[in-house]
This record gives sequence, structure tokens and C-alpha cells, in this order.
Amino acid sequence: MLMRPGGTPTPSPWGLPGVPGVEPSPGDAMKPLNLDKPSCTPASTGIGTTSGSSRLGDGPSAHTGVHMYSPSSMADWIRCPVYAQYTREHWVPRDRPWTPHMLLGIAIGDGLSECYRHWDDPNPPEYGLPVALKVLEAGYQETSEWTLAGLTKLVTRGLQAAVEEDAPRGHPILRIDESIGVSRPDLICRAPDGLEIIDTKISLTVDARYRAQRLAEYDTDFKTWHYAWEVEQFYGEPVARTGIHQIILSPRPVSTLYPVPVTRERLAFWLRMAEQLWQDRGDEDAGRCPRIPRMASCHTKYGLCDFYAACHEFGGDPGRMGAYYERGER
Ligand code: SF4
Repeated sequence: MLMRPGGTPTPSPWGLPGVPGVEPSPGDAMKPLNLDKPSCTPASTGIGTTSGSSRLGDGPSAHTGVHMYSPSSMADWIRCPVYAQYTREHWVPRDRPWTPHMLLGIAIGDGLSECYRHWDDPNPPEYGLPVALKVLEAGYQETSEWTLAGLTKLVTRGLQAAVEEDAPRGHPILRIDESIGVSRPDLICRAPDGLEIIDTKISLTVDARYRAQRLAEYDTDFKTWHYAWEVEQFYGEPVARTGIHQIILSPRPVSTLYPVPVTRERLAFWLRMAEQLWQDRGDEDAGRCPRIPRMASCHTKYGLCDFYAACHEFGGDPGRMGAYYERGER
């Protein structure tokens, strides 16, 4: 039987030190130098504030009227506009062996959301575990490397570790895995010093030597700051911190909360960048600017880009790409 520890309210915002603020300089929004894009337009204004009460939809930002993209698709685009385009067109490498990584993340994420919906119950996993296992069974593909029994064990232990972390810390839960505008935070709570956002990240395994570094990358992660900004816009209240709930499943489950303190200055700093990037992408989508590949992302510490052959062997020609790639499910 999975048990949840008693969650008592605590005023401590995870008890970690704050991040030094960065003062935005006045004047025009920051714009990357790109000699191939002479006609790209600057985002409309400098940014004075990041708080407000307007509710945002999928489309123009209420702040400046610049078209806003979902943080996930922006993460793809920041990595490489060509990568984002192939992903949007559902290109996938042919005959790639099935792995359970994505399925494990979806199963535990859905199960954890169900736990949060029953957080006042003495045993939330009673509700969450059946949801997680149903998702796992529906998406499982038989392979000699991954058995359903083994994956069931990973999901069960991972969910238990996640629940024991008690991410809401006794704070009232406002929203669980629901869209607000163009983003969909996993969890929003109200802490005594402001709103808190939790984003769950599930990994099958991460070498212990790189776990701290992996978490530190979220300090400047585009999606993390987008959540903070859009939640402030949605609720009209300041966000105190946005946090990563990292769950590593193997060789034994490890659950860690990593807070990213949100200051007005850093949020304004992010927004200056974001509005220009939204503007640049909008120009590109409208054909006012060319789609520029980012070769720095072709080969990184995480390995080769999935579309390496498409770009470097087939010149982006869909006719030739068919040898290695197909259009996947939409
Ligand atoms: S191979 Fe390089 S240029 Fe092509 S999509 Fe990937 S990152 Fe972009």
C-alpha cells in the first residue's frame, strides 16, 4: 500500500537562497544580430512591468500584441527553427526501435496529477496509480528489452517517490495540469509569499554526476520563465517561484524539488528576450524572414540531432528524406 506522508503547511519557500536579480537596461528590446534577416522587425516596446490581470489566449500577447507561441514549441524553435519545422510536420526517423521513455513520463505525470486531485485524501496514489498504469498499458509495445512487468514496477515506485516529495508543501492547490493561454503548468499553488508553479520532469535515469547540472539548467530555461510570466498574467498576482520536480526512476527512484526564485527584474529580462523571439518567429512563419538553421544544435553533448541526415545528407529535400524518415501520427 502506498502511503502519503502528512503534509503540514509550511511558510518556507523551499528554503533555498534567491538568485541575484538582473537589471534590464532601458530602451529597445534586445535583438540578435543576424545579417541574413534584414527585414525582421523589432518587438514593439521596451518592457516596464510583468504583472497584470489580463487573461491571455493563444495568439497575440496582451502585453504588446506580438503573437505568442507555446513554450514547448518555442523550446524547439530556439534549439533550431528547422528542427521545429520538421517536428511540426511530424517527421520521424523510420524504423526507430520503440523505447518507453516518453510513455513513462506521460504515465507518471498523469498519475501524479490524479494524486493532486485527491491530495486531501489519506492515500492519493490509490487514485493516481490506476491512472498511471492504464496509460502505461495502453501505450506499451512489446520488446525483448522492456517488459510490461518491469515498467509497471518503475511507474509504481516512481509515483510513490513523487508523492512522498509532497510538492504542494501543504499550500492550497489552485490548478492541476490545465491550460492557461498557451501554457499548461503541471501544478499551481498559492504559498504565503506568492504563487508557486511546479513542473514535473521524469527521467528513466540520470548519472548522479550530472543531476545537479541538469537541474541548474532550469534556472534559465525558456519554458520555466514563460510559465512564471503567463501565470502572473492569468492570476494578476506575483509568482514567488517556479520549480522543477525531478523524478529519476532508475536504478532507484529519486524525487527532488528544485526551486527557481522569480524576481520582477529577471522576469522583465526574460520578457525582453521572449517578445523579440516571438516576433522573429512570427516573421519567419509569415515568410518575411528565411528559416535559419542553427548548426550549433546539430551535434551536442546529448548526441546527434534526429534530423541530422535530413539536413546534412538530403539537403532538406522531402523526396530524398523519405529514405530515412516518414510522417508520423498527428
Ligand atoms: S540537423 Fe541541425 S540544422 Fe538540421 S534540424 Fe537538426 S539542429 Fe537544425
